[in-house]
Amino acid sequence: MAENPLLDPAFLRRLADEVGTPFLFYDAEVLRKRIQVVKDLTSGESLVSRYAMKASSAHLILKEMKSQGIWIDAVSGNEILRAKRAGFAMGAEPPVVLLTADVFRDNALEVIREEKVVPNLGSIGQLATLRESGYEGPVGLRVNPGFGHGHVQACDTGGPSSKHGIWIDDLPRAIDEATRSGLPVTLLHAHVGSGPTQDEFNANVGRLAFLFRELIEKLPDCGAVSFGGGLPHSYRDPALVPDLAPLARTLRDAQASFSESAGRDMRVEIEPGRFFVAPCATLVSRVADRKSTRTNEKGQGHDFLMVDAGFVDLVRPAMYGSFHRMTVVGESLGPVRPWAVAGPLCESGDVFTRDDHELIQPRELPTPEPGDFLLLHDAGAYGAVMSSNYNSLGRAPQVWWDDGRAVLMSRRETLDDILAAECEQPLLGR
Ligand SMILES: *Cc1c(COP(=O)(O)O)cnc(C)c1O
Repeated sequence: MAENPLLDPAFLRRLADEVGTPFLFYDAEVLRKRIQVVKDLTSGESLVSRYAMKASSAHLILKEMKSQGIWIDAVSGNEILRAKRAGFAMGAEPPVVLLTADVFRDNALEVIREEKVVPNLGSIGQLATLRESGYEGPVGLRVNPGFGHGHVQACDTGGPSSKHGIWIDDLPRAIDEATRSGLPVTLLHAHVGSGPTQDEFNANVGRLAFLFRELIEKLPDCGAVSFGGGLPHSYRDPALVPDLAPLARTLRDAQASFSESAGRDMRVEIEPGRFFVAPCATLVSRVADRKSTRTNEKGQGHDFLMVDAGFVDLVRPAMYGSFHRMTVVGESLGPVRPWAVAGPLCESGDVFTRDDHELIQPRELPTPEPGDFLLLHDAGAYGAVMSSNYNSLGRAPQVWWDDGRAVLMSRRETLDDILAAECEQPLLGR
């Protein structure tokens, strides 16, 4: 892998002078390598990779996916329209863009009707909603197979406590309902793990393949099966790239077995989000200050490194206690010691070094001076897309780095951007 240009303090200072801090830095080369890994995984006949674009929907990312022949999984009407603007083909034949949504919200129904995008349904009631909206076309059914889970409790994608998909026992009823509504079921889908271990992921895919094989026989219109996303990314160890050969074999075997069972050629899909984009972006913050609390009788007390990025820029540590590697960059760093890294927000949870019990977990880092930089790595997935305007800070700019050239891919939001939707428009009453 090419040396990360952000490790050079002079380079960082020049970039920071241009766009200010904090900002997100995307390395196109790292993204392309990950896209290639996924493409290798689905390089056989009738195997397709979609990108779950909710992980990062910036236009340059979408453009890169499009140029590499990756398809799209969208979760909202607006995500479909963003994919359309990035040049992805609309329509159901083939369904290059799929809408997987538990609830149709805002313009979703209108967009799927107009763009003929196939909806992948997570509840039986959605069939009636679709029919009433005038939709006439194929549908996918997202199944909750009763197993599978995420990287933390709160991120539960399969099993009794997951909100996603149609519970496996209700599937026959969903199929009846679809048939009655004249909506052919062309896709069977399950997404059972967001970031578990690689072995768990492979095992889940194997169990699903077994389940799907039986279901396909009852679905004469079904031409595709999707195993969803959830390919894990190793946030702690960048050198740990999983061996995907067993998964590639499972996918090829599943394709052959589904096709045999159905008596027709079946497409097999996966739709990773995180794995595609997690490593390609770094959140760059500037160290504002250092301060300490005095240790009390319970041993609580920390040395805080105050930085100008907060959970408005990267919410995963505050939301899930997620781990992000950190690097301090400066010309003359002091000794390594445990630091609690905290941001600017008026919220005590604005700490990047937390565990999943919301406790502060200081990190061994060299001691920087104010004005030095602190990098938060692997911020490409669920980073910018989950950013917010809490404290009216304006979303951070995004910089695209490709072949020695830096391009601003979104500028820092201004107060006018933040206020753009505010109004005083009369609605009801006198
Ligand atoms: C979120 C999601 C994905 C992507 O999950 P990752 O863990 O980012 O790979 C794929 N499919 C569906 C339906 C999802 O909801």
